[in-house]
Amino acid sequence: MALQDIKDRIAKACEEAGRAAESVTLIAVSKVQPDARVEAVLEEGHRCFGENRVQEAQGKWPGFRERFDGVDLHLIGPLQSNKTRVAMELFDSIHTVDRPKIAATIARLSDELGRCPELFIQVNTGEEEQKAGCLPGEVDGFIAECRMLSLPVKGLMCIPPVEEEPSLHFALLAKMAERNGLDGLSMGMSADFERAIALGATHIRVGSAIFGERVPG
Ligand SMILES: *Cc1c(COP(=O)(O)O)cnc(C)c1O
Repeated sequence: MALQDIKDRIAKACEEAGRAAESVTLIAVSKVQPDARVEAVLEEGHRCFGENRVQEAQGKWPGFRERFDGVDLHLIGPLQSNKTRVAMELFDSIHTVDRPKIAATIARLSDELGRCPELFIQVNTGEEEQKAGCLPGEVDGFIAECRMLSLPVKGLMCIPPVEEEPSLHFALLAKMAERNGLDGLSMGMSADFERAIALGATHIRVGSAIFGERVPG
């Protein structure tokens, strides 16, 4: 089965990197996948999933959570201000915090809700115009700002430009995390998670390699 195959590849990549297999969290990216495929992976015992749209996640995860204990849900797509409250109620982790306004909204809602998901700051390592994420030159200041707001920042996240060697971006992200004393690194997808593990990824986001090609909705 694909899930076991990915787990074996993670174990091998960890071994080659001299890391413990438990140091990497596999986020199964279930966006746009038919419920039956997601359910099959839940039935296999996997509990950590990623979605990139708040609304889509809202439609399917409350139901799965009623049937399966211990679901750990990660938001890996863009976060809009007006969806922040719902996202904070639904997700255990948010990987896409990327601007002061969202950080302030999360801080205010944390006080109100009495809880806050674990946070990752998304960095636009390729400085791509169309891509979300804090620019590399602004990341140290933004992390400091989040800390001032007492936000639970776990680490950094990136999505490398498609046409570039991802390892350069993974290495850059690892360096930015290290100099800021952060130990979480959300990087690596179906095509490049082994390279991400070699460079220190703690959270890999794997979709199509587990579930098969996404079925367009
Ligand atoms: C869809 C998505 C993934 C998973 O992509 P695959 O190539 O299917 O593994 C990972 N991260 C983000 C942010 C995504 O949107």
